[in-house]
Amino acid sequence: MAAHQEKKLSEERNHKSTQNGTPSQVQWGRAWEVDWFSLASVLFLLMFAPLIVYYFIMSCDQYQCSLVDPLVDFLTGNKYLSDIWNKTPRLTYRAAGVYTFWVAFQVVLYLFIPDFCHKFIPGYVGGVQEGAVTPAGVVNKYQINGLQAWIITHVLWFANAYYFHWFSPTIIFDNWIPLLWCANILGYAVSTFAMIKGYFFPTNAADCKFTGNFFYDYMMGIEFNPRIGKWFDFKLFFNGRPGIVAWTLINLSYAAKQQELYGEVTSSMILVNVLQGIYVLDFFWNEAWYLKTIDICHDHFGWYLGWGDCVWLPYLYTLQGLYLVYHPVQLGRASTIGILMLGLIGYYIFRVTNHQKDLFRRTNGNCKIWGKKPEYIECSYMSADGTKYYSKLMTSGFWGWARHFNYTGDLMGSLAYCLTCGFEHILPYFYIVYMTILLTHRCFRDEHRCFSKYGKDWKRYTAAVPYRLIPGIF
Ligand code: NDP
Repeated sequence: MAAHQEKKLSEERNHKSTQNGTPSQVQWGRAWEVDWFSLASVLFLLMFAPLIVYYFIMSCDQYQCSLVDPLVDFLTGNKYLSDIWNKTPRLTYRAAGVYTFWVAFQVVLYLFIPDFCHKFIPGYVGGVQEGAVTPAGVVNKYQINGLQAWIITHVLWFANAYYFHWFSPTIIFDNWIPLLWCANILGYAVSTFAMIKGYFFPTNAADCKFTGNFFYDYMMGIEFNPRIGKWFDFKLFFNGRPGIVAWTLINLSYAAKQQELYGEVTSSMILVNVLQGIYVLDFFWNEAWYLKTIDICHDHFGWYLGWGDCVWLPYLYTLQGLYLVYHPVQLGRASTIGILMLGLIGYYIFRVTNHQKDLFRRTNGNCKIWGKKPEYIECSYMSADGTKYYSKLMTSGFWGWARHFNYTGDLMGSLAYCLTCGFEHILPYFYIVYMTILLTHRCFRDEHRCFSKYGKDWKRYTAAVPYRLIPGIF
């Protein structure tokens, strides 16, 4: 509650002046025009991302997680595509029922159970919270109750596994490919609905963007914050639940499968569950902070977020656990400790860096970073309605070391997940390769946007903090 009031005060302090006259259309936020490279990337992803997910999951199902063997089989004529496809499990009524129940249950938790965690967990910020100012000058309110949804879901999961036995805890693994078809149906349905909604009944027309290119708009979204009713926010729902709540359940299902197959859960599987569990729990503990991240503050809702949250995230972020079902790696004590340390140090950097920015922004710089008053660069920007806002870019703490040191911590944690799987196959290393591309691209994307937003003030900031990810190197 106190944090909420503090944030409101800080926003009022920031919101200093309104310009008279006609509203000016500002350029920050996602692109208005599409260059050929962006269009080519969009077309590539639309065509190949679903195939990439299928290829990885099929490789585990039919080739013990080897990414090379299916290619060799195909290129040497040993197998035809039709052979592989014919061996692929189809959509089943059971999977459709499980998936529908799962999504409906998360909708109920999201919409109908207002947050009670913030009433009794000290330091947790939940309940109704405000997002950042959108390019059109709107401040949305969100019902933050993800931690509660995560806790209820997991309590029920363990209650079922150890007491009720309604279904097997291996249910997710056992239906993994049929569930993939369900996730794809939802991912495409929600992205298509978001596109139609953007044209015909947008939540906030002033925050819509049309490039005139169908594929770009479908992929990157038209609406900024599509909603149904007052509280069903597409971005917050689809990213957090079913996407991120599912992450830890999927890993638990993999652990249960190892137990069933080998009579034990390996140290590597425990490490994956613990390290990714910390990351997921951190997300829900800090869900109010998430409202200030790029996903919510800057990205529009299209296929990238809609399909990505339903398919890409649950299927490819959990590859290590899936791999360990097929290859139960037992790590030695030194490797376990080394990987755990790497994961925890990465998490520490990720969390502290994000916390420093959050604290700095919430208190408008009236805080201590590493025991001292933070240093910063004053900057200003304008929203579409012509209102001028003032903000600050911090140059202290980890934000003085590099412009995206939070990404560096995230990458260290990602590497730790992959290392749990040993070095026999490349499949589990997909995650670190993907995260490196994603976060490096995000650096450039964010910096381009910040430059459009802050202009010469951003230049002053990059001169003060010249490196992006690794001080002295990049
Ligand atoms: P940030 O949290 O770094 O947010 C970037 C924004 O912060 C900028 O657009 C700017 O916004 C503001 N900002 C930039 N520099 C400063 C500064 N020096 N002082 C104050 N504010 C500043 O980025 P993300 O939202 O991308 O990432 C959040 C976290 O989520 C990261 O730790 C990242 O690793 C993680 N992440 C994980 C992903 C995954 O798939 N696992 C995917 C993406 C992110 P403004 O306009 O407000 O000034």
